[in-house]
Amino acid sequence: MRPVRFNITPKEAKLSDSLMQGELPQGHIGEGFFATKLNDVVGLARKNSIWPLPFATSCCGIEFMATMGSHYDLARFGSERVGFSPRQCDLLMVMGTIAKKMGPVLRQVYLQMAEPRWVIAVGACASSGGIFDTYSVLQGIDQVIPVDVYVPGCPPRPEAIIDGVLRIQDLVQNESLRRRGTEQYKALLNSYGIE
Ligand code: SF4
Repeated sequence: MRPVRFNITPKEAKLSDSLMQGELPQGHIGEGFFATKLNDVVGLARKNSIWPLPFATSCCGIEFMATMGSHYDLARFGSERVGFSPRQCDLLMVMGTIAKKMGPVLRQVYLQMAEPRWVIAVGACASSGGIFDTYSVLQGIDQVIPVDVYVPGCPPRPEAIIDGVLRIQDLVQNESLRRRGTEQYKALLNSYGIE
């Protein structure tokens, strides 16, 4: 018969061990006060509350499903609120082969997102067309919209997708609140024909 084991001497769990300490932005701390920059506070809040919009057209989307599952658990990074409404989301995750016919649709979705918005190209197809060097496939989504982070792989494993989200978090945290109003940013959008 299989022996049955009971956990009769459970280890005492301390609440402080199981709670993740929130990261503090740089600033001055004192008795009853903490002073920091608005830019850092907004960056911290935005970084930990990214709402992704998955634009999945083929196999890389399956890897994204695994990334959202309990094993990899994208919710650990505050990004579990996946939405399919561009106006509420701020991270466009493009996963899969984008046919040239799909390019205007992808661009339309991007345009419907409010600023500030970020874009990840997940996998070889979204980044460069991948193995589909053909007349019908867009050779990288950066031909129609600006991209912030490229995730390599065909398909990238969930770890790679998580790494891409972490790189986006770095960008989000450190982005100046004024960046979206700068001439450089306007020039970037103008280069894509976006006013
Ligand atoms: S990069 Fe590879 S796995 Fe991803 S959509 Fe293209 S062919 Fe599929």
